[in-house]
Amino acid sequence: MNSNIELLEQNDPAVYAALRGEESRQRSGIELIPSENYTFPEVLATLGSVFTNKYSEGYPGRRYYGGQEFTDQIENLARDRAKAVFRCEHANVQPLSGSAMNQAVYLGLLEPGDTIMAMDLSHGGHLTHGAPVSHMGKLFNFIRYVTDPSDGSVDYDQVRKDALTHKPKLVLCGYTSYPRDIDYAKFKAIADEVGAITMTDASHFGGLVAGEAMNNPFDFGFDIVTTTTHKSLRGPRGGMVLCRKPFAKKIDKSVFPGLQGGPHMNAVAAIAVTLKKAQTEEFKQYAQQVLINSKTLANALMSNQATLITGGTDNHMMVVDTVASFGLDGRRAEEVLDKVQITTNKQIIPDDPLPPLRPSGIRIGTPAATTRGMVGSDMEQLAGWIIDSLKAPEDEANLERIRCEVEAFCTRFPVPGI
Ligand SMILES: *Cc1c(COP(=O)(O)O)cnc(C)c1O
Repeated sequence: MNSNIELLEQNDPAVYAALRGEESRQRSGIELIPSENYTFPEVLATLGSVFTNKYSEGYPGRRYYGGQEFTDQIENLARDRAKAVFRCEHANVQPLSGSAMNQAVYLGLLEPGDTIMAMDLSHGGHLTHGAPVSHMGKLFNFIRYVTDPSDGSVDYDQVRKDALTHKPKLVLCGYTSYPRDIDYAKFKAIADEVGAITMTDASHFGGLVAGEAMNNPFDFGFDIVTTTTHKSLRGPRGGMVLCRKPFAKKIDKSVFPGLQGGPHMNAVAAIAVTLKKAQTEEFKQYAQQVLINSKTLANALMSNQATLITGGTDNHMMVVDTVASFGLDGRRAEEVLDKVQITTNKQIIPDDPLPPLRPSGIRIGTPAATTRGMVGSDMEQLAGWIIDSLKAPEDEANLERIRCEVEAFCTRFPVPGI
């Protein structure tokens, strides 16, 4: 009998060739985009499974279609494991991705026009945190706070002043390009003063909270935590809304039938698998190593003329001001590093004078490299290649030498599941 992949090869050579090409690309370069990772082989198996055939509108025990014996089992497993891993009272594992999970929270708990406080996009907020181009930015009244120019951390005094002035219904922390830890106690105190709901969007560092390497907002009394499942958590593409009991009903109704139809049960099965992995000692060590690697890489870059936004990192990522460091804009820096098979992404920096598609920096993170087994000494090697490439972006011979070294280096670090 032919395996599924052999059938694909026979019957759709074009898609098969692209799939093999992507596998080879992922193996032969170093992935430093902080929102990306390599998932577990068991997750790949469940994603490509028969659960994708099934409609499961509703929740376990209350579905709109028959035949739910096994889908109920996996969704209950995913929910129970999520509650255990994140120490929370309720979990919804159906959001189709991170953006949908945030929309479900806003739409489920607030009315259109209500005020939400969140971080400005150029200072680290996500599009779904009220960027004017996003639908959420049009539907709700977002008050955008910024970072303190003196040290780059959240300006908590300003957050408090804004909260007292604008009386938000919801205060949101948790970011997409902010390299520092978050003072949850301060946010909680500010929100309590004005009676606002507290929410953390842990999309980027959810895996580090799960692995107990970073603080858990629920330990500080937060109401809502959202996280994607495909970033540092290393699971399938998806999102989860985790919350305290009083919000459970509204959140569930908001995800379905409010926002979505049938959940992707193959992804829900894969989330269950991921959350079992997240409970292992191995995953805790992984989460710790992500942080060690991030600090090591940041220090190595800074001791070789790189300027980092906020002067370092407390989490899995850093933002390099490439204009200040190397006289290159972020787009050019990203292109130069692509040539040596080191993948990063251009990044706007706080109050960036340059436009978003040609911003002043790049964003670098360690979750994917750590999944491949890279450790501190490898980060120092990596920093050397990054610096050498960005210092001499026109030196094609030098870039080609570095590319060959990177490719040889990568053969030492197998990618799980490929
Ligand atoms: C990645 C991210 C999201 C959105 O996730 P998608 O799966 O891309 O929709 C939301 N919030 C934050 C902070 C993120 O970093």
